[in-house]
Amino acid sequence: MNIRNQSCPSEKCTYFEQICAGNVVIHSRKESRFRCNCCGKTWVGHRESMHYGLRSGERKIMVTGYMLGEGFSIRHIAKMLSISPSTVQRFKKRIANFVGA
Ligand SMILES: [Zn+2]
Repeated sequence: MNIRNQSCPSEKCTYFEQICAGNVVIHSRKESRFRCNCCGKTWVGHRESMHYGLRSGERKIMVTGYMLGEGFSIRHIAKMLSISPSTVQRFKKRIANFVGA
């Protein structure tokens, strides 16, 4: 496990997804658990593949946000991104949280 690859998984945290921000410490070597010094969140390491999944998900969220802004329907966006309409709904909620609306 490499602490340099770890970043805080809490979206509310200032250091969310930031690598080498100096906020990550080892919480438990035995469980390969890491902890964020900023928000106190702990998580299990070696989740690199999950990380990549999140990245592509993040792109889809951005596209969703753009298409919603352009007035596309949820059904249409779901079809375009080959995701389910409920996922689009979830993204929409996340985007609303992000914008603070
Ligand atoms: Zn944090």
